[in-house]
This record gives sequence, structure tokens and C-alpha cells, in this order.
Amino acid sequence: MSQAQASLLVQGYEVVIGFETHAQLSTNSKIFSRAPVAFGAEPNTQACAVDLALPGTLPVMNRGAVERAIRFGLAVGAHVAERSVFARKNYFYPDLPKGYQISQYETPVVQGGEVSFYLETGKGADATREKKTVRLVRAHLEEDAGKSLHEDYHGMTGIDLNRAGTPLLEIVTEPDIRSSAEAVAYAKELHKIVTWIGICDGNMQEGSFRCDANVSVRKPGQPLGTRREIKNLNSFKFMQQAIDYEVRWQIEQLEDGHAIEQATVLFDPETGETRAMRTKEDAADYRYFPDPDLPPLVIEREWVERVRAAMPELPRAMAERFVQQYGLPEYDATTLTQSPAMAAYFEAIAQACGQPKLASNWIMGEVSRRLNAEERDIAEAPVSALQLAALINRIADGTISNNAGKQVMDALWGGEAPVGEPQAQVDALIEAKGLKQMNDSGALEAIIDEVLAANEKNVAEYRAGKDKAFNALVGQVMKASKGKANPVQVNELLKKKLG
Ligand code: ADP
Ligand code: MG
Repeated sequence: MSQAQASLLVQGYEVVIGFETHAQLSTNSKIFSRAPVAFGAEPNTQACAVDLALPGTLPVMNRGAVERAIRFGLAVGAHVAERSVFARKNYFYPDLPKGYQISQYETPVVQGGEVSFYLETGKGADATREKKTVRLVRAHLEEDAGKSLHEDYHGMTGIDLNRAGTPLLEIVTEPDIRSSAEAVAYAKELHKIVTWIGICDGNMQEGSFRCDANVSVRKPGQPLGTRREIKNLNSFKFMQQAIDYEVRWQIEQLEDGHAIEQATVLFDPETGETRAMRTKEDAADYRYFPDPDLPPLVIEREWVERVRAAMPELPRAMAERFVQQYGLPEYDATTLTQSPAMAAYFEAIAQACGQPKLASNWIMGEVSRRLNAEERDIAEAPVSALQLAALINRIADGTISNNAGKQVMDALWGGEAPVGEPQAQVDALIEAKGLKQMNDSGALEAIIDEVLAANEKNVAEYRAGKDKAFNALVGQVMKASKGKANPVQVNELLKKKLG
């Protein structure tokens, strides 16, 4: 066991987690019928005869759902099976009118693959980044069930079959995850991949991306412990809380001499606790068998190659390119590849102004802060890439200070810029607000002389070796110049005059 692994132990126990994630595929229609897939419609208005399991109906595979599975397989470096098989998973539930779910069992469409991400530990100078890879077992296509509605029906339960037949890709990992932090980092990376390649809208509140975390603990070197499966985690915050609670609970049980029983549990955000729903079924309970209504799914290699040719550059590869091409730190590159829109915004600015690090700082700082405050997406940023590039040009060439740049940003963000080319807009704002730095060293020297004359005490202290006194003088000069002096120049001139 490496040092990093040893530091992950909780009260002497190793945490072991495997994930099953249901990603709702972004098709227009259902996986085996033509009924539409849209969130929030009136109950039972989007279920056709196939979804209702009326006798005599037959499922027909949705090509768009298969294509999305292929995209996923390629994105995670998996094998896309030439031939995969649909199976019936039999169980009774009121919102499952067929009495079985069509899924894939022995031969899934996507086999193997992996998801890698970076984990950050420590802060500031102590921060270290460690690469972690989680192996995937498989990803298979299946249909969603309907929903049971327990509210508003006066002691009865309503059944809404709108969701029945919605296409899902279930993505299953090996039990490679070793902490709640790794679990959240894995889930975030997976979420980024499926939204990046456009196969899932990623809306967690609406249930488009939901995770089940299988959690067990063991003493290092022991075989795997018995797991409990936390169902339907639909926020990263609850995911971390639920796993942390579950780990503490399991350790407590074991320390008290109780065995863990395999179970399915739910997390209650109100109490912060996990609660057993039912003891877990085994695969044998589902009586899986190949669905005789559907032929095996055959995927020709030419189709896979066409999909491969149309794949976008993936976030990890793009982040690595940003490090190489623009000399960005790994942290910046990862942050800027949160979404295709963010990455495109960065590249447009970096290429227009030739200042990638400044572009990165402005996007991660001022732009992100404003977007977060307004709960807006980068695609809705009111400052265009070319406007921000024009602003950065004027900071880079010393026309304005970084602080004055923030005032220009405010004006651009508020739509105050006059009509015109981006550079002309920025220059007009700098002019109108009088933000130009003093680059005239004669005028600056005059100010410095006045400040030195008026602050003899600080001058004496500086000469006696007090660095603080120097900073006080810089502050006085900046103030006297109304913030327009170039701080680098002030430093240089002051040192010259004092030394
Ligand atoms: P099922 O389909 O019955 O839920 P699987 O064997 O397919 O069971 O496993 C489901 C998930 O549980 C996988 O992600 C797997 O890695 C994980 N898993 C299996 N055993 C353990 C364990 N002992 N501790 C933690 N996770 C586990
Ligand atoms: Mg399971």
C-alpha cells in the first residue's frame, strides 16, 4: 500500500466504492417507441402503446440511442461490441407495465474503458495533484421505468408512464474508488464527458444523470467487504455527505461486532443519514433471459469509424493541449475545459490577444465571478471574446492597470460600450472614464518628489531598513496619482530616488 493510499484510511479501514450511473440519452424519442421524451409534460401524455405494454406491440430499437452509446464507448476508450444482446430483467413494480425491463445483461454494447481525472489535496503551496484512473466494467443500453406519484392523490398512488421507455445508458465501474472525494471527482468527470460529447443533458435535478454508489469497507489486505448500494444520488453535495455517513455507519457496525448485510439504501438530505430500503436482490432474482422481441444489436465497424471521425476533442486531451500550446498551468487548463463553450471562449481570447495566461486569469476570475453571481452560463456572457481580448491588450501594453481593467469590464458587462469594433469600444471606455495610466515619467517624478517631501518620517524609516515604510510610500504615490501611476514604474523610480 502506497503512502497516498494509507492516508485514505478511515479509522484503520479502507473504503471501497463502485459506481453505477444512469445517464438519460438526449434522443427526441424513446428507446423502443416513437413517443416523445420531454421532461415535465402532463402525466401519461407521452406514452404510446409500446410504452404502455399493450398486447401485440413490439419494440423497435432507436438508432440515435445506439449512436450515443458508441460515442460514449469511444470517449472512454472502451470496446464497442460488434454484437450485443437485449435481455429481459423481470420484476414486478406498478410503474413497470410489462413486468420486465428491457436491458442488456451478458453482452453489453460498451465493454471496458476508463475514466481519468485529477484529485487535489492540500491548499496553496502544499497543493498536490494526483492522477486517478477508474476502470469501467461496461455501459449498457436500457429503458427507464415510469414513475409512481405518492403526493396529491388522497392516500392513493398515481402512475405516470411518461418516463417509461426513456433511453438510458447505465455506466458501471470496477470497485476502484477509495474515498468520497474520489467518488465525487469521478462523478464530475463522467458528467463532463457525457455532456461534452452531447449524449446527455446532464440535468441532475431532473434526473438525467443519477448515480448509485456501492460502498463497502475492509481492513487493508482483506477481501472485499459486503457492500450497501446508495441509490439515486442526484447532487454532488449529497453524494459526498451520503458516502461519508455510510462509511462511518459501516465502521461503527463492524466495530460493534455486527456484520454488514447487503442492502439498497436511500440518503435522506433532511437527516443526513442513509436508510435501508430493501435487502438487495441478486442477479438470479431477476431471471434475466434474452428478449425474443429484439434481434441482437449489430454495429458495423464503418458506423463506429464514422462516429469516431465526428467526435469532438475530449476535455482531458484539450486540457493537455492547453498546457502544451499556451503554457498554462495544469489547474488553469482543467478549469477552462469545464465545457466546450468555456474552452472556445478561452481559445478565441488567447488567439486574439496573444496573452493566454492573462486570458485565463480574467476568465477564471472576473468573468466566472460575475457569471456565478448572475447564475448565467458562459454562453450567455455579455462580454464577447473579442471585447475581452481588446481589454487584455490594453493591460498588456501598460495603457491601464489591472484594477482599471475591472472598471472597463464593469462597463462592458453593463452594455455601456459605444457601437464599434471591440478595440475601439475598449479604448473609448478608457478615455471616457479617464483610466489611462501615467506613463509620463516626468509627471510621475514630480508626484514622487512631493510625496517624499511630505513624508520625511517614512523616508527616514526606510533608510533605517524598514520595508514597510517603502510600501507606505508606494501607497502615497498611487493615491496622489489617483491610481493612474504604473505600479512597476513607481517602484523603480522610488527605489532610484531613495537609494
Ligand atoms: P449488481 O448489478 O447486482 O448491482 P455488480 O456486481 O454488477 O452488482 O456491481 C455493481 C457495482 O458494485 C459495481 O460498480 C461494482 O464495482 C460495485 N461493487 C461490487 N462489489 C463491491 C464491494 N464489495 N464494495 C464496493 N463496491 C462493489
Ligand atoms: Mg446495482
